[in-house]
Amino acid sequence: MASKRKLSDSTLDPVKPAKAEKSESEPQTSAAKGNASSDFSQFMERIDSDRKKAAKSVMEFKFNKKRARVLTKSSEFPEWGKGVIYWMFRDQRIHDNWSLLYAQKLAIKNEVPLHVCFCRLPKFLEATIRHFDFIFKGLEEVEEDCKKLNIQFHFLIGCGKDILPDFVEKHKLGAVVIDFSPLRLPMSWANELSKSLPKDVPLVQVDSHNVVPCWHASDKKEYAARTIRSKINSKLDEFLTDFPPVIIHPFTSELKADPIDWDTAGKTLEVDRTVGPVESVIPGFKAGMKNLYSFISRRIKIYDEGRNDPTKDALSNVSPWLHFGQISPQRCALSAKKFASKYKKSCDAFCEELIVRRELSENFCYYNKNYDNIEGAESWARKTLEDHRSDKRQHVYTKQELEDAKTHDSLWNAAQRQMCREGKMHGFLRMYWAKKILEWTKSPEEALSISIYLNDKYSLDGRDPNGYVGCMWSICGTHDQGWREREIFGKIRYMNFEGCKRKFNVDNFILRHRK
Ligand SMILES: Cc1cc2nc3c(=O)[nH]c(=O)nc-3n(C[C@H](O)[C@H](O)[C@H](O)COP(=O)(O)OP(=O)(O)OC[C@H]3O[C@@H](n4cnc5c(N)ncnc54)[C@H](O)[C@@H]3O)c2cc1C
Repeated sequence: MASKRKLSDSTLDPVKPAKAEKSESEPQTSAAKGNASSDFSQFMERIDSDRKKAAKSVMEFKFNKKRARVLTKSSEFPEWGKGVIYWMFRDQRIHDNWSLLYAQKLAIKNEVPLHVCFCRLPKFLEATIRHFDFIFKGLEEVEEDCKKLNIQFHFLIGCGKDILPDFVEKHKLGAVVIDFSPLRLPMSWANELSKSLPKDVPLVQVDSHNVVPCWHASDKKEYAARTIRSKINSKLDEFLTDFPPVIIHPFTSELKADPIDWDTAGKTLEVDRTVGPVESVIPGFKAGMKNLYSFISRRIKIYDEGRNDPTKDALSNVSPWLHFGQISPQRCALSAKKFASKYKKSCDAFCEELIVRRELSENFCYYNKNYDNIEGAESWARKTLEDHRSDKRQHVYTKQELEDAKTHDSLWNAAQRQMCREGKMHGFLRMYWAKKILEWTKSPEEALSISIYLNDKYSLDGRDPNGYVGCMWSICGTHDQGWREREIFGKIRYMNFEGCKRKFNVDNFILRHRK
């Protein structure tokens, strides 16, 4: 029997900085010859082999302990512990998941079984069946993978903070591992759980969503991309490493997970069913990786020059899978660097968005409790919005008119329709869309609340730090600077239809989304 170890023992020492590979090769693409699925298999095989090269298992891998933090007073796995449980909520995947790897390492070290649970709430904020369908289909894959890996996957009813203390006590689980999210609800869950677990059970939080752990990237709210960029980029040698594989768990549990009836699980939700699943965006790890592969092998070439043109197919479209943690941002960055480095400009631009901008949003929400309201804006922005509060609005629309895409602006309507139907609006238009809501509603508060409401309701990647920051950037100048003063906007950056016309073929976009 292995001796019981502290969670922070030396085996969790920082990894050695892994050198980014210099000579990269693209995955073989024979898509033109109609062999896309074998190309994708090769891509996945190479990723698999990279994991095995990183280490045989997490036991031989130097897990960077800066990714994990103990939230309880107790930090030792208790002698009586019969298992480790990972409460998966934000990072809903098996592979490339630091939380699961940490949990497996802890379980193997203490020679106990490994459990994963997902705690299902009847509803979550304003999430619709579109979002839950995406989650559940992704979790079906997680369940399958767990079976292959001798990990018990429990689908529990209720919020983890309420049900896990009893579950842990009843089944004598000796440690709980959870994901990290900077948003207030999951932050409060983690906090409450840390107080309600049996007192000798440690709770460990692992940041599996960021390349550089949010709490390590910076210890304060950053002002803009320029102030966080070097803090993040200077830590990439240390953190942008490959992942080891999750192995078949060597300790089998007597506690077996109940079988899951996914149909019933979906039917018992108390959610808005009028916003249905988006057929073209297939949930789950495999589909997410397929989309990543198609981007890396095809679209990334034009990412740098084409990403602000909504009529071009230049974007990665990874955000729905990233939002639900079905694929890892770190895997996306590693894949771009490994397979597409010859498109250097595009690769750099993609990593800037994926790592620096995305992690800036995490930083904003983590250090600013008003991340989704005007109070969270900088003082210059609050003042300028206040100064222009009473400016005359030429058009004023209600929430319903906006939701129904009934404005005078055919480009805005087309963008709104794209979001409603496809579950995602093009990134460039998201800025225009939110700024027009500021222009056409009675107050900045109303504009912010409507933009967040619509984004969260229809976008598959909604309810995300990126969404709150995107709306705050557009309406409240967050992470931006003051511009020439004008009506309604004050010094907040302005965007207009004519500007869009100069950037891309507006008519073409409108035609595509006219009905
Ligand atoms: C009003 C508004 C609302 C937004 N709402 C969301 C949202 O709900 N969820 C969401 O993930 N993003 C949101 N964004 C940020 C950005 O528009 C999306 O991340 C992007 O459109 C997602 O598409 P993609 O994956 O094809 O992007 P790509 O351009 O291919 O980028 C790859 C990844 O980089 C990150 N990224 C890209 N642009 C940004 C950005 N400006 N800020 C931070 N990270 C970025 C995302 O994780 C994205 O998935 C919003 C932006 C605005 C202006």
